[in-house]
Amino acid sequence: MTVALEKSVEDFVTTPRKLLIDGQWVEAASGKSFATLNPATGETLAHIAEADAEDVDRAVRAARRAFEQGPWSRMSASERGRIIWRIGDLIEAHAEELAQLESLDNGKPLAIARAADIPLAADLFRYMAGWATKIEGNTISLSVPYMPGAGFHAYTLREPIGVIGQIIPWNFPLLMAAWKLGPALATGNVVILKPAEQTPLSALRLAELIAEAGMPDGVVNVLPGYGETAGAALAAHDGVDKIAFTGSTEVGKLIVHAAAGNLKKVTLELGGKSPNIVFEDADPEIAIPGAANAIFFNHGQCCVAGSRLFVHQSRFDEVVDGVAAIARDIKLGSGLEPDTQMGPLVSDEQLRRVTGYLDSGRSEGARMVTGGGRHGERGYFVQPTVLTDTRPDMKVVREEIFGPVVVASAFSDLDEIARQANDTPYGLGAGIWTRDISKAHALAGKIRAGTVWINCYNVFDAALPFGGYKQSGWGREMGHQALEAYTEVKAVCAQLQT
Ligand code: NDP
Repeated sequence: MTVALEKSVEDFVTTPRKLLIDGQWVEAASGKSFATLNPATGETLAHIAEADAEDVDRAVRAARRAFEQGPWSRMSASERGRIIWRIGDLIEAHAEELAQLESLDNGKPLAIARAADIPLAADLFRYMAGWATKIEGNTISLSVPYMPGAGFHAYTLREPIGVIGQIIPWNFPLLMAAWKLGPALATGNVVILKPAEQTPLSALRLAELIAEAGMPDGVVNVLPGYGETAGAALAAHDGVDKIAFTGSTEVGKLIVHAAAGNLKKVTLELGGKSPNIVFEDADPEIAIPGAANAIFFNHGQCCVAGSRLFVHQSRFDEVVDGVAAIARDIKLGSGLEPDTQMGPLVSDEQLRRVTGYLDSGRSEGARMVTGGGRHGERGYFVQPTVLTDTRPDMKVVREEIFGPVVVASAFSDLDEIARQANDTPYGLGAGIWTRDISKAHALAGKIRAGTVWINCYNVFDAALPFGGYKQSGWGREMGHQALEAYTEVKAVCAQLQT
C-alpha cells in the first residue's frame, strides 16, 4: 500500500509554484510554466513557473543589491551562522514533508530520502553554520629585498566572491541544493539557484524554509527552468561573479565557455566512471553487498557510482554471482510503496539513455548476467543489471551510464589494477575491498580520483571534501575546502613608520 501523503505535500504540489526573486514569489516574465512529472507513473505532478533570461537578469540585479546594500553584508558572522543553523533545524522539523516531495519528484524510495537525503542536507547546513565565524586570513612577515629596513604589517582577508549562480541536477535535488547553498552562505555570498527541470519541488520548499529561518530578501533566489535557457543565461551573465555547477561533463564544458565572457570563477562537479576493486582477500560478507550498493544506490544515478567492478580473478565468479543475486532480489516500485528498494529512473529521457547503453553493450558482445532491459510498461523503471565479457573500448565500459548497470571484469595484480582503474577520462571516486591495509593504502595513493573508499562505499559527510580529478570537475564541495571556492583572498600591506 502506498504511503499516505502529508496534507502539506498535497497542497504544495497542487498549487502552481512560482519563482523566488528578491524575497517575492513571482510569475516568470514570459508567463510560461512547465510540468514536473512523477517518474513512477509519467503523470504530471505539479506546474512550475519557467524562468528564462529576463528572470535571470532580474534575480541578478536583486542579488547584487542584497550583496552590496542589504542587511546580509552588514550582518555579523555569528548572526549569519545562526540563520544557516536554523535552516538545518527547519529541514529537520519538516523532514517527512521534504522526504515525500523528494520521493514523488525524483522517484527515490521514501525510506532512502528519510534516511539519507534529508538528514544529510540538515547536517550540511549545520556544519557550514559553524564555519561562518571561522573564516580567517593570516598575518604575513614581509622581507621586501629592495626596501631594506622597512617595516610592514601585512595580512590577508577572505572575502565573499559576490553573486553566485548555482546550477544543480536531479539525482539528489535537496542535498545538491544544500551542498551548494551552505558554503556560499557561510562565506557571505548571495545566490541564484537553478534546480533541475525534472526535480524543482524540494528546492522551492527549501526556499520557503530559508525565508522562515530569517534570511534577508534577495540573498537566495530560486529560478526553476530549463538548462538551455535559464541555466545558460545564468552561466553567461556578466553580473554573476561565480558559477557552481553539478551535472554532466558535457554541460560542464558549456559552462566553462559561457563563463569566459566576464571570466567568472567556476567550480564543477561532473560525471564519473568509478572503479570498485575487490581483492582476493576481501571479506565477501561486506565486499559483495558493498559492490552492489556502490552501483545500485539511488538507482545508479550517482556521479560516483561504482560502475566498473574489478574483481581479482580468483574470486571473480563468486563476487559477480553474489552481486547478481542481490540485483535479482531488489524490489522495484514506486518510491512511496514501503517495500520498494529501487524506484524508477528520473525521466523518460534517462530511461531511453540507459536502455540505449544496454542495447549497445549487447550488440558489442557483453553478457547480461542479470537484468538488461526496462522493467514494466509504466514509469521509467530499469532492471538492475550486471554485465561481463566486456572489453575496455566498449561504450558501456568507457561512458557514464547513470543507471543501475555495472560492468564487471577480472584482474590479476596491483600494478595492472591501478592502470585499469585510471584508464578513464574521469576521476571522481573509487572503492577498494581488502583485509590488507598496506595494499589498500598503496592503491589509494595510485588512484587518480577525488574520493577513495576502503571497505566501504558511498560514505558522505559534510566534513569530507568531495570532487573530481581529471574530467570529473574543478574544486571541492563540503569540508572546509568548499569555503575556499567561495572566497577571494585579499592581501593588505601597510608600511609602518618607525
Ligand atoms: P545536465 O548536465 O544536462 O543537467 C544538470 C543541470 O544543468 C540541470 O539543472 C540542467 O538544466 C542544467 N543545464 C543543462 N544544460 C545547460 C546549459 N546549456 N547551461 C546551463 N545549465 C544547463 O544533465 P542531464 O539531466 O541532462 O543528465 C545527463 C547526464 O548527465 C546523466 O545521464 C549523467 O551522466 C550526467 N549527470 C551527472 C550528474 C552528477 O551528479 N555529476 C547529475 C545529473 C546528470 P535542466 O534541468 O533543464 O536539464
